[in-house]
Amino acid sequence: MSTAAKPAPVHAPMSQFPIRNGELIIGGVPLTRLAARVGQTPFYAYDRQLLGARVGELREALPDAIDLHYAVKANPMPALVGFMAELVDGLDVASAGELRVALDAGCAPADISFAGPGKRDTELEQAVAAGVLLNVESAGELRRLADISARLGWPARVALRVNPDFELKSSGMKMGGGPKPFGVDAEAAPELLAELGRLGLAFEGFHLFAGSQNLRAEAIVEAQQKSFELALRLADAAPTPARVLNLGGGFGIPYFPGETRLDLAPIGANLAEIAHAAESRMPDATLVIELGRYLVGEAGIYVSRVVDRKVSRGQVFLVCDGGLHHHLSASGNFGQVIRKNYPTAIGNRADALASTVATAVGPLCTPLDLLAERMPLPEAQVGDLVVIFQSGAYGASASPQAFLGHPPVVEVLV
Ligand SMILES: *Cc1c(COP(=O)(O)O)cnc(C)c1O
Repeated sequence: MSTAAKPAPVHAPMSQFPIRNGELIIGGVPLTRLAARVGQTPFYAYDRQLLGARVGELREALPDAIDLHYAVKANPMPALVGFMAELVDGLDVASAGELRVALDAGCAPADISFAGPGKRDTELEQAVAAGVLLNVESAGELRRLADISARLGWPARVALRVNPDFELKSSGMKMGGGPKPFGVDAEAAPELLAELGRLGLAFEGFHLFAGSQNLRAEAIVEAQQKSFELALRLADAAPTPARVLNLGGGFGIPYFPGETRLDLAPIGANLAEIAHAAESRMPDATLVIELGRYLVGEAGIYVSRVVDRKVSRGQVFLVCDGGLHHHLSASGNFGQVIRKNYPTAIGNRADALASTVATAVGPLCTPLDLLAERMPLPEAQVGDLVVIFQSGAYGASASPQAFLGHPPVVEVLV
């Protein structure tokens, strides 16, 4: 009879956060207690234990020869970046703002790299002054960098970001292959490498980043293999041997019904082969992978409180104090083609049966402000806590917080 009838597909349970006495536990703290400690909803909470465990799993699955970098873009909260900086081998930044966060976190400049199209002169100056590695993305940027380095009298550390001549298949977001604003086309790279030498810039290596949010190990393996082969070909044209080879990342996490966790075993085996081949074919190079979402995404939740519960023509609406303005990704408006629900729970009734179907919306006057649409959930009341899982990456910093003038979200590391 009504549109309320058809529930959304059910998610696999999100088991990374334990449940005790009906409550979700974050970093050892029950959710209602954590909400009281934070002093407001909505908030994001990130679990240190889960962050550490994820890095541990990766270290276990990948060969020792692979350096693990955290891409700050995924979650730039300073306390979290500081925590991650202690666990990983380096940080990748994509703006001068992220560079400041990385340096404040105590990361050594030698372990920071800076990628991103459209680096302004001031950003290039800041990066040169800091002594971090610049992943150069165009001929124009290379020339500006040479001028800046000469004017300042400090050497610039340069890696060439290459737009590969292949794609990362079945990727959530493709960032390489075909015409792209990122990096220098592979076929134009040899000429630029020669120019780099003529300009007297210190060449350090290559950066390849083919795409993001991939759950298929075979696709990642293929991209890493092709990236390595491409870098070997380009190395012949480089003025000096490569000291860094950043093979990118793209490791995805499951968000939607039917998706499963990435199988690290084949990726680890392939990287071991690459590392072995690199010992003779690119002996000076440190191999790096850079991950954002995979490191932090599953360790975070977004919590908002039910302000109103209403029924409209048979459909139950839980109107929450948080929404699209804090969590654009969960609303479905950050790159999704077809909107699907993130895994969602009533965090203070976490072991109750999903006995109703409800739609959780935010407080904004727009139909785009959805948190979970027609979701099987326990019966919820005003005051209950709606939890969106898989919210540790591309959350607060990727959302239009000023839209409609609601209070900003708080982020805590637990
Ligand atoms: C966005 C980005 C990342 C992080 O991507 P994830 O999908 O979050 O792992 C890494 N490197 C570069 C160059 C990026 O642009």
